[in-house]
Amino acid sequence: MIPLSVPNLKGNEEKYVLDAVRTEWVSTGGGYINQFEKNIAKYLNVEQAVACQSGTAGLHLALIACDVTCEDEVIVPTLTFIAAVNPIKYLGATPIFMDCDNSLCMDMEKLEDFLQTQCDIQNDKLVNKATGKIIKAVVVVHVFGNLANMEKLVELSKKFGFKIIEDATEALGTYQLNNKKFAGTFGDFGVFSFNGNKIITTGGGGMIVSNDTKKLNYIKYLSTQAKDDELNYIHNDVGYNYRMTNLQAALGVAQLEQLENFIATKKNNYAIYKEETRTSSEIKLLNFREDIRPNYWFYSLLLENETPTNMINICQQNKIQVRPIWGLIHEQKPYKNCEAYKIEKAKYYQKKIINIPCSSNLTKEEVLLVVQVLVKG
Ligand SMILES: *Cc1c(COP(=O)(O)O)cnc(C)c1O
Repeated sequence: MIPLSVPNLKGNEEKYVLDAVRTEWVSTGGGYINQFEKNIAKYLNVEQAVACQSGTAGLHLALIACDVTCEDEVIVPTLTFIAAVNPIKYLGATPIFMDCDNSLCMDMEKLEDFLQTQCDIQNDKLVNKATGKIIKAVVVVHVFGNLANMEKLVELSKKFGFKIIEDATEALGTYQLNNKKFAGTFGDFGVFSFNGNKIITTGGGGMIVSNDTKKLNYIKYLSTQAKDDELNYIHNDVGYNYRMTNLQAALGVAQLEQLENFIATKKNNYAIYKEETRTSSEIKLLNFREDIRPNYWFYSLLLENETPTNMINICQQNKIQVRPIWGLIHEQKPYKNCEAYKIEKAKYYQKKIINIPCSSNLTKEEVLLVVQVLVKG
């Protein structure tokens, strides 16, 4: 079986986890948590990072730190994993769905069009004319390790006055080439995930980064049950049990040491896939943006004639795990009645793309085997 995307734990994982176990620091205290936070902040060149239980928890806390309440609306992509959207619902707020562009990330032209034609600025607040509600934030997703057009989004956020939360859960290591600015560091908050299928893993885990240390400390406080006085159990806010454990962080420290190697392997394998599918009229490997260094997390294969379902069956028979991309979120049951603005490209890509094996321990022989099956169809 050639899996889609699995963990690669051949570095110092065992050593550090064993150390955490032997020193009996396994829960939400212990040195690996601080070390993992420091190492991530240094790698990304941001002021601070706060470790939490999952990417989803990180997004939830970032939305709270952006003051999103049940009165508000938040703009999100429809072509994404549902975890990018659910935390908006946790707060009772309402998502508005946007289309993607050819990078599969949010279409900033359409977003601008929406802001200009469907919204007003009233008392310095961005208001959706159709509902009269305030649009507090945009959650932008760096899909499959690509980078959304952040320069445009930052420009729009200044002009229209909304907060930016970057769902960089799939894009740890991706950066813009001209200034080496990393995915997750353009907006007000960036959120990463260390779930088992991500480029590095802690089993499950997440990280929130920002240059606003005051807000990040608030996030950390919320993630540990909002304790104002630990001894006497005084809590002045509703907190969460969202802190990362030392066991998870021990894995994370070891994984981060290998991140650049993982990216190098993924880049190589991407290049082999690209070369081997170059002349096919049936399948086409999508490019990442040219002005970035992607982390090559997931490879997107566009099927010109075959349906994803057929191709997935063929691959399954050959013991190769591939998968279609996500069902569009604005069509999912909990979100069917939400506003969705001129969704076109997301519908097209949703019917055309599959993700193919991309683990950082995938060998050249395995890539060639996968290509053989894909090309034969
Ligand atoms: C993985 C992922 C998340 C959620 O991360 P978890 O750590 O699994 O909670 C959120 N958004 C996107 C786009 C993801 O791919």
